[in-house]
Amino acid sequence: MVGPPGSGKGTQASRLAAERGIPHISTGDILRGAVRAETELGRQAKAVLEAGRLVSDDIMVGIVCERLAKTDTRDGFLLDGFPRTVPQAQALEKILVDHAPLLVIDLSVPDEELVHRLSRRRVCGQCGIVVSAAKSGVPETCEQCGGQLVTRSDDSEEIVRKRLAVYRQETQPLVDFYRARPNFRVVDGRQVPDAVATAVGVAIDEVMAELDEAGGA
Ligand code: AMP
Repeated sequence: MVGPPGSGKGTQASRLAAERGIPHISTGDILRGAVRAETELGRQAKAVLEAGRLVSDDIMVGIVCERLAKTDTRDGFLLDGFPRTVPQAQALEKILVDHAPLLVIDLSVPDEELVHRLSRRRVCGQCGIVVSAAKSGVPETCEQCGGQLVTRSDDSEEIVRKRLAVYRQETQPLVDFYRARPNFRVVDGRQVPDAVATAVGVAIDEVMAELDEAGGA
């Protein structure tokens, strides 16, 4: 699943992965976990994340390669936040050479809406659920688990604008790299989350049916 920061990728990816019973692999979550655990990777990634820049392709490809080698990915998996550059996409092609084809969903949302959404985004420090501050009346604790709701350190307006610029520069060419493929679909991410989830499900089922047809032909 690709899409700019704030497009709802994480929310939709975790929902879809749970529905389809496949692992949700979020490279942002892996990196934030490493920062919290103060591992060597976390120490290297911390400043990069805080500046809204991208961690190097070599490090990211290594992380994803290692994760995809685990047996729980055998029947499929959902990648959220990877690939983010053309070299990452090219490395992924090599990693997946013996796998079923990649299905790419692009969640499309205009920049101004993204800045607005990210300024309101709060994340539960305990269970990781994402909520909108305005919608829930600026709650301080998570309704699900009672954990503390926090603003991600890279969600300040200045860093958000930097992340969007990085997205347009580094990731947009990758979306264009996938756009020409039959397994690529764009979903309008401006809709409410339930409508986005429905549209994502329809897009996936459509591609799967086409693949089945092509396989059976
Ligand atoms: P996300 O949670 O997907 O918005 O990712 C948060 C941050 O983690 C990004 O702004 C990058 O600094 C870093 N990151 C996540 N995935 C990647 C990736 N595939 N390549 C490079 N950096 C990444």
